[in-house]
Amino acid sequence: MAEDTQHLLATAGMSVELDRHVGEIGQPDKFIWKGCDGKTMTYLDMAAEGLCGYRSTTCFSQPTLESALALRCESYGIPVYRDWQLESVDEKTNSANQTKEYTAHFARYKKTERPYQTSLEVEAEYLVSAEGCNSMIREMFGFKEIDYGFTYDWLVIDVLPNDPTPRPDWLQLCNPHRPTTLVSGGPRRHRWEFMRLPHETIDHLTNPDTVWSFLKEFHLDPTNCEVERAVVYTFCSLNAEKYWDGGGVFLIGDAAHRMPPFIGQGANSGFRDAAALAWRLAMVIKGQAEPYPLFSSFSLERRAHVDFIIRSAIALGEPICQADPEKAKIQHAKMRKHYVATGRKPYPAFRPPLAKGGLFLQEYGGGVMCMRRGRLMSRHHQGASWHLISLDPLEDKAILNRLEEIDGHALVVESDHQREYQAWMDESRAGSVVVLVRPDNYVYGFAKDKVDISLLLEELQVALGRA
Ligand SMILES: Cc1cc2nc3c(=O)[nH]c(=O)nc-3n(C[C@H](O)[C@H](O)[C@H](O)COP(=O)(O)OP(=O)(O)OC[C@H]3O[C@@H](n4cnc5c(N)ncnc54)[C@H](O)[C@@H]3O)c2cc1C
Repeated sequence: MAEDTQHLLATAGMSVELDRHVGEIGQPDKFIWKGCDGKTMTYLDMAAEGLCGYRSTTCFSQPTLESALALRCESYGIPVYRDWQLESVDEKTNSANQTKEYTAHFARYKKTERPYQTSLEVEAEYLVSAEGCNSMIREMFGFKEIDYGFTYDWLVIDVLPNDPTPRPDWLQLCNPHRPTTLVSGGPRRHRWEFMRLPHETIDHLTNPDTVWSFLKEFHLDPTNCEVERAVVYTFCSLNAEKYWDGGGVFLIGDAAHRMPPFIGQGANSGFRDAAALAWRLAMVIKGQAEPYPLFSSFSLERRAHVDFIIRSAIALGEPICQADPEKAKIQHAKMRKHYVATGRKPYPAFRPPLAKGGLFLQEYGGGVMCMRRGRLMSRHHQGASWHLISLDPLEDKAILNRLEEIDGHALVVESDHQREYQAWMDESRAGSVVVLVRPDNYVYGFAKDKVDISLLLEELQVALGRA
């Protein structure tokens, strides 16, 4: 899990769940790409401390985390409907104000012994499709997808070892005869992935004999581990042309995009989509902002961010999925040469700034992720809101009132972290001492003085369609 996702979950009040379900003591510091000659071609630095104060990447088991998320939602009084299938959606336009209204029809697919309700209707002004790659809403509302053309089948095996230590290194074995990945499957789990070769069928790959024959090479057999699951996934690369239909329908997560998992960014991108949309919806619903500028910037920012991530995943996936030994030899030699020539540095972190035209002030250094240290690291105590973070306390009533109008908070950097923040602010925009941060932890803009702060807040009103 990427560091910014860990921060988003902490903001949602999930610090305890993060401690329990994400990360693992003893997790390797590097994720290494080995070429067909067995030599390192590049690596991802997973131990580096990120801007949000967490390790740049940690491992997690998605089903466990999803159950914890559902429980946390229920503890906040957010109903979680399990075992209901979306069957259809009716859309109509409210003639009084021209807004859209949706009625979603659900059917219960899991029968219980008790008498049960079999159908459910939900009426809403907004429809957010988080239904994964086969999204019905995406099809129904005519969202088009761009295919980047990178598609491979992989057998994914999750193993529960009797003794989960020692943990194997995290490796991409770019072996053209059998492209292989070794990673963690989350706490206490190990994951092995093997690419399907052109002549192999899915039935053959998922046959238990085949599964054990693959694992045998890594000294695993039924006496020392259990296979939790062995499934073939198609790793593909698709991005919807837009994530908002111009009315009230949004795509997030795999409904909006799919990418090869070699750099572990699929779910992370989904969390980022959710965070980017949630504060915008909240502001529009509360009447603090107009829909158009917020929703169009959501679509623009998120789509461009995902485009960068998909291209990175393909760039790092191509040498892994190359099954032609001659081509692999040339490709790997080139990659290794670049790695050595550039000082054996890790592959750069996947932290692109937001795309031009998004909801931030580029000329004021906006669009980058905000640093979080000390007490400012987790916003749990305040939830996700606008923050004005300053090196010295802000006492200007007019500024504080304007912040309050958007439910924002003024926060002061603790003395222990002054130097770090000062250096970061200065580097981002020379001379700045204050930063206005969006609820999804992206910087709106940096300010050098009171005049600058007022200007940022005024520009924000324009961006929110309120001026
Ligand atoms: C092998 C593999 C490894 C991966 N590793 C990583 C990793 O290390 N890091 C990472 O960030 N990502 C990783 N990913 C990607 C990640 O799993 C996905 O990006 C993520 O699951 C997408 O989440 P989602 O909620 O958008 O979609 P999904 O997880 O597909 O969830 C969609 C949900 O909607 C429900 N649904 C669908 N249709 C309907 C309907 N009509 N009515 C009601 N409910 C419906 C489904 O039942 C499901 O519960 C990996 C993926 C694979 C295949």
